Parts: sequence; structure tokens; C-alpha cells
Amino acid sequence: MKCPNCRTRELVVIEMVVKGQPVALNNCSPCDLRWWQSDGAMLSLAGVLDLAAVGD
Ligand SMILES: [Zn+2]
Repeated sequence: MKCPNCRTRELVVIEMVVKGQPVALNNCSPCDLRWWQSDGAMLSLAGVLDLAAVGD
């Protein structure tokens, strides 16, 4: 996994499960880019919030 912006491999990945779906928050500290991933696909923050908002 590389940062799509600065190409560094020094990423901090935080994995969690939202509503039974595994999602990963990738954090690139060199360029301060953050993005979400689920099932290998990039997810917008809005998409994650939608996931979290469904149900309950
Ligand atoms: Zn970066």
C-alpha cells in the first residue's frame, strides 16, 4: 500500500469494523492525506458515515 499522493509507504493503517463491514483508515503523515478503504476499494468519508448511520 502506497500513498496515492506522495507515494510513500509509511502509512498508518487503522482497521475497524463498521456495521459488520471491515473498513481501514489509511493515514499518510508525510503529506497528511487520509482516506478510507473497504474491500480494497477507496471509500469517501461520506460513504463511511453512511455505513455508520445505517441501522440502529
Ligand atoms: Zn502521502
